[in-house]
Amino acid sequence: SVRVRIAPSPTGLLHIGTARTAVFNWLFARHQGGTFVLRIEDTDLERSRPEYTENIMDGLRWLGLEWDEGPFYQSERLDLYRQPIQTLLDKGLAYRAYDTPEELDAMREAQKARSEAPRYNNRHRTLTLEQEAAYIAEGRQAVIRFKIDPEREITWKDLVRGHVSWKGRDLGGDMVIARAADPKEIGQPLYNFVVVVDDIDMQISHVIRGEDHIGNTPKQILLYEALGATVPEFGHTPLILNQQGAKLSKRDGVTSISDFRDMGYTAEAIANYMTLLGWSPPEPMTELFTLPAAAEKFGFERVNKAGAKFDWDKLNWINSQYLHEMPVDQLTDALIPYWQSAGMAFDAEGDRPWLEQMAAVIGPSLSRLDEAPPMTRYLFETDIEFDEDATQHLQQDGVAIALQEVLSLLESAELNTVDDAKALIQQVVKGKGLKKGLVMKTLRAALTGALKGPDLIQSWLLLHQRQQDQPRLKKALA
Ligand code: GLU
Repeated sequence: SVRVRIAPSPTGLLHIGTARTAVFNWLFARHQGGTFVLRIEDTDLERSRPEYTENIMDGLRWLGLEWDEGPFYQSERLDLYRQPIQTLLDKGLAYRAYDTPEELDAMREAQKARSEAPRYNNRHRTLTLEQEAAYIAEGRQAVIRFKIDPEREITWKDLVRGHVSWKGRDLGGDMVIARAADPKEIGQPLYNFVVVVDDIDMQISHVIRGEDHIGNTPKQILLYEALGATVPEFGHTPLILNQQGAKLSKRDGVTSISDFRDMGYTAEAIANYMTLLGWSPPEPMTELFTLPAAAEKFGFERVNKAGAKFDWDKLNWINSQYLHEMPVDQLTDALIPYWQSAGMAFDAEGDRPWLEQMAAVIGPSLSRLDEAPPMTRYLFETDIEFDEDATQHLQQDGVAIALQEVLSLLESAELNTVDDAKALIQQVVKGKGLKKGLVMKTLRAALTGALKGPDLIQSWLLLHQRQQDQPRLKKALA
């Protein structure tokens, strides 16, 4: 059966690249009726932080990427890695190497001087017992190295990239699988080894991860073989690139899922967009889809080999589609925290109908939730400033008459619906012989402080409910 995993290292916030890898794993698992496992690779004790683990799990849940098993923590499994290392030593597939850091530096320098790629020259692979005893007597520490046959050709059929082939000699020499320690012990096991032991133990059938890991795969395949385990399938997904075509990194600004969330992207839009960064849905599917809908159609044959450029315009467009479709009560729930953190004064419960009405008015023009506070500030505030255009307009002929007439009609008129407002405007136009355009523009300037903005009549109704329209009309008249 299909078993896949996402194996984030909690050394930072959930990165969009990791999240996108999680998406592909999840889609594949759901399509195949398989199992999606979460494993936290927290063996780097210095850089791993519990708050990053929280952030990663929150982000995955927020995106709808629920895992079926886990989280498993590597830090709690450290004892598991000793035995297989001992087995490799016993079988002669691994050995202790006593090179000091200075000796290794000197080796690399010499290689550099000969313009060779840095690699371990396997010099301690065949130490005699006497040489080994001498190093131990010197008090040297030992790493454990796994033997890599330079003549070996390692190939696999990658789910995304097709046939891939590596030469043993290009893998940097016999690889360190455990850090330096007293020669009687086994030091801390290293990434490539731990991953293989875990993937074997968790019976992972398909290892789907970012293309940046492709160089680890040949080493890991050799380890599977040495440990007598079945080699899983591998799929290396294309990287997410910035506008310059380089791998998207922290330097590109926003890259963590929680940042996208704070900026007002919906989980649905982010999940949708991340899926499109590398996968093209088959016809007649459109580019707007939920993860479960994508899972029905998902397969690696439609995952691109080339890196995918991150496109803000496209993300914004997708997000706007989700916001425009969102039911008003849901949109209101989503907007409340943005209004709150922008310092708007309101009572989330008492003002609920008013907030919903506002959400309905601005919903169609939102492409991100964080656009709402600046867009609606004039509805919350009790005192507004008129901008330059509005100020200029308010000095025109006829403006004062229009304002006075609206104010006097408001003394007795009902103003609850769009029709009420239209009727009132019509009365001003007819009664005072003014152009409708002038009356509308005047109302907009007086009520919103600007000549552009969301729907005028709706804004007026919203302000009227809070008794904010008359003071503004009076202020404009002054
Ligand atoms: N812990 C690795 C990372 O965060 C993932 C390793 C893997 O998927 O094999 O990139």
